[in-house]
Amino acid sequence: MVEQIKAAAGSLSWLQGRQKRSLEEVILILLCMVSIASVLPFALFRLWEGSWLSAGVDLSLVVAFIAVIVHVLRTGRHRVAGLLVTLFYSAGMLATVYLRGVAMVYWVYPTTIAAYFILRPRMALAINAVAMAALVLILSRQLATLNLLTIVVTLGLVNLFAYIFADRTGLQTRALHTEVERDFLTGVLNRRALDRKLGDYADERRPHLDTCLLLLDIDHFKSINDEYGHAVGDAVLVRLCTVLRQHTRASDRIFRYGGEEFAIIASGAELEAAERLAENLRMAVSLAQLLEQRPVTVSIGVALMDKRSSPKDWLEQADQMLYRAKEDGRNTVRVAPPKGIA
Ligand code: GH3
Ligand code: MG
Ligand code: MG
Repeated sequence: MVEQIKAAAGSLSWLQGRQKRSLEEVILILLCMVSIASVLPFALFRLWEGSWLSAGVDLSLVVAFIAVIVHVLRTGRHRVAGLLVTLFYSAGMLATVYLRGVAMVYWVYPTTIAAYFILRPRMALAINAVAMAALVLILSRQLATLNLLTIVVTLGLVNLFAYIFADRTGLQTRALHTEVERDFLTGVLNRRALDRKLGDYADERRPHLDTCLLLLDIDHFKSINDEYGHAVGDAVLVRLCTVLRQHTRASDRIFRYGGEEFAIIASGAELEAAERLAENLRMAVSLAQLLEQRPVTVSIGVALMDKRSSPKDWLEQADQMLYRAKEDGRNTVRVAPPKGIA
């Protein structure tokens, strides 16, 4: 079984393509492929039967799904494509029921559920509600009231359950993401979140505002642990994070990079602004009396997240500057010269 799953995953790896595809893109492409595989046999059968209109509807759907796959593979954009696929599902389902009658009503159920796979729950519900109203109009002439009511009630229930399921899954996924990327002790983001954020920034296709990376390390932290105990050391870490939060903007992100090392991504800050921020933080920490018995200070290295280099380079540069700040006596800030000047 494990081998089968691995083989299936391996055979789908081409979907990931040269650049990494998001899960949403992969789900949309897979749904389109499954839809083509489901509709195409019916299209061929209708052609063979000579039911040209039905065949036309089915073939249009197949062409539309192929177009969506090509579009998503080429551009990586899936939002509008997802909306279109849902509209194709609904339109295809309505056209089929209109042309071939109530026997085709079985198609309504999978298309209803599919909308919740592709879109946000509210959007899926809105589209399904409109489609259901149109379906009632189409079927009202063909069906007795009780039969029509059965379809409406069962479809309503399918929508209700799918909505609750999609909504809860979304909530749980968001909660899990938040938890997995948070540092347990201090509540700031953790190393995993930093790696993701740096990767996201490097992958951003459009040019972005200047952004800087600050690496901050507590000076002589080991001696705080040694003299006052680990619990006091922990309390210093927590208080330091409070100071960092107070002196950064809401758009800046704070990460615990290692034991007593922190990283800050200051978006929209060019080197000069980042240096000012680092200097403010250094000063704020030294004045904050994180420990009653003795002053606590930090050293900070700053680097520009230059689009021509990689996350590894940014970290290395900031780390070199942090090392230099330590060498130059600690409680100090050092800034990496911009590329071309170094
Ligand atoms: P420097 O000024 O060169 O940075 O010296 P330092 O003593 O701060 O650096 P060093 O790397 O020698 O020591 C870091 C210490 O941080 C050692 C480790 O015990 C402590 N530490 C790491 N994680 C935690 C933690 O979660 N809680 C506490 N209390 N201490 C930690
Ligand atoms: Mg240290
Ligand atoms: Mg350290």
